[in-house]
Amino acid sequence: MRVYISADLEGVAGLVSRDAQMGPDGSDYQTSRVLMTEEVNAVVRGALAGGATHVLVNDSHGRMGNIIPDRLHPAAQLSQGYPKLLYMMDGVDGGFDLVFFVGYHARIGTADGILNHSYNSRGIYDVRVSGKVLGEPGLNARLAGYFGVPVAFVAGDEATVRETLAELPDVEGVVTKYGINRYAARSLSPSQSREKLEAGAKRAIERAAGRVGAAWKPALLKEDGKVRWEVDLLYSAMADLCTLVPGVRRTGGRSVEWTSADYLEGFKAFLAMTVLVGTIA
Ligand SMILES: [Zn+2]
Repeated sequence: MRVYISADLEGVAGLVSRDAQMGPDGSDYQTSRVLMTEEVNAVVRGALAGGATHVLVNDSHGRMGNIIPDRLHPAAQLSQGYPKLLYMMDGVDGGFDLVFFVGYHARIGTADGILNHSYNSRGIYDVRVSGKVLGEPGLNARLAGYFGVPVAFVAGDEATVRETLAELPDVEGVVTKYGINRYAARSLSPSQSREKLEAGAKRAIERAAGRVGAAWKPALLKEDGKVRWEVDLLYSAMADLCTLVPGVRRTGGRSVEWTSADYLEGFKAFLAMTVLVGTIA
């Protein structure tokens, strides 16, 4: 059983501050790296105990150099560094059986989602795929689905788990904290969070392997054929920049749309826009 872990930072227990904890310039960022690495370790331990034979951890936050390599579980491989073209899901096309989301956060505009945003918090106001508003769990699960890999596990604040289970009700979800609003949360202690993560990851593998519970086939989230994308930007100049991407059409002051031949093509165009809009944030 080959497991791909996409690891973000915002959903890790004990973290709430964008300024102090989310990036290398933050005064408390080194603590974040430790907490993130240890949550990932708990998930790796659980996955291995459940029967995983290979685990790849894709550092998916910011410039993707957050996890501390020599503190990471020795059995896991680590993908780190910037740029990686499929970003939070880079390498998911490497023959994996299951995808795990760790440290995830809810989509932008979720009232009780701690640090909620959708890919670029300084540029992306809303994203709709085939008319459905999506955040990172939905966008990334569809990319995994494109490559035929189902999502089996999600961990993050309660709003993130709720958002993921709304589309994928059979996913094993572990709540690490409860958002009070975008910048405040009530968190489990890191040690209790890790206990739950380890147990949940083990259960996800065991269920997927059919060893516990009723027969369970982790759901594959897929967009078949052509896909319609709509993105609202924060500022009108960002929409200007997005129309540089071939096939992208302006639909309003700060809105664009396009139709991709398949999900992967559209996802790449969306990622290009998240980079473009960051140049004038
Ligand atoms: Zn992040």
